[in-house]
Amino acid sequence: MTNINKDTCHALLEWIRGNAGKVVILTHANPDGDALGSSLGLHSVLLQAGYQSTVIFPTDFPPIVPELDNYSNWMIAEKHEKEAHRLMEDADLLFLLDFNDPKRTGKLRKNLEQFSKAIVLIDHHPLPLIETPFLFSDTKVSSTAELVYDFILKMGWRIFLNRDGATALLTGITADTASFSHNAARSELYLAVAGLIALGADQHKVQEALFNTNSEERLRLLGHTLSEKMIILPEYHAACISLTKEELKKFKFKPGDTEGFVNYPLSIKGIIFSSFFMENEEKIKISFRSKGGFAVNEFSALHFGGGGHFNAAGGESKQSLTEAVEKWRSLLPSYSDKLDNEYLKQA
Ligand code: 5GP
Ligand code: MN
Repeated sequence: MTNINKDTCHALLEWIRGNAGKVVILTHANPDGDALGSSLGLHSVLLQAGYQSTVIFPTDFPPIVPELDNYSNWMIAEKHEKEAHRLMEDADLLFLLDFNDPKRTGKLRKNLEQFSKAIVLIDHHPLPLIETPFLFSDTKVSSTAELVYDFILKMGWRIFLNRDGATALLTGITADTASFSHNAARSELYLAVAGLIALGADQHKVQEALFNTNSEERLRLLGHTLSEKMIILPEYHAACISLTKEELKKFKFKPGDTEGFVNYPLSIKGIIFSSFFMENEEKIKISFRSKGGFAVNEFSALHFGGGGHFNAAGGESKQSLTEAVEKWRSLLPSYSDKLDNEYLKQA
């Protein structure tokens, strides 16, 4: 199913039996559907199994998990900083979900780096930078939520996976595959989904929460972005969009509002590389997406201090928005042959 190793699960079960105490689940800042869904899904199982579990989300998030009120014992660190630090200091066991680099936990990075008890990492990003004997890393799976589902089965915890836990995991899978449109070609994925639906996961509510909760402002911001702020460079099979602080303010930006914007240029015939530059208080946050064999995680690591997946990565820039976009543009000629070849392979 996945490469979740049964022996490692058994070793972890042994450890938990002897040391069961306070468990903290931590995911990345600006949590997306997979970060939220995988964390709440595992959390729900741990609570049902009688463990003392808390989820820490480093920053706030949009309401994309159905019936969030059904989940207890989770908190947003940026709103309760002291408590988050205290929880991290007191934890006996830390689950890290859906990230591979401590720097993605924002202000909790120091706590994480100083954490000296047991860590379990469950993630589908390449090259995890966190060392632990309890490492569950598989880059071929759709999402961390799919991995967590298999982890739950192999830990023997399926009996603790109820409707809410299953719905949370289905949210993660649906979000990271954009509703089964990418990273969704393995038959095992659909077996996992069937398993979750059999446990009561509410597929309809997942779709509604993820895709049909637009605010008017978000839809208008999308319209503005595509109509006024999209640059298409057909000669490089590339496109980019950018948004200034002022534009975000004008459209009453809320966290999560620009989620998915970077994918739109990829829907243009002939475009295989899309980038999105967004200005925030301290830096420019950049998202990269590609189709086929153009590795955006490598592109981001080389030029914009980031990383991620082969076809979906993020990075940042301390330059101005205009400078960052210009830098991106000036890099394209050196990738011209690569982009052309990858385009021709798909055409
Ligand atoms: P997004 O564009 O949605 O923010 O991120 C796309 C993917 O790249 C996600 O899987 C995310 O984990 C990863 N990613 C985003 N920003 C960074 C970053 O600054 N560093 C690294 N290593 N990965 C990132
Ligand atoms: Mn993910």
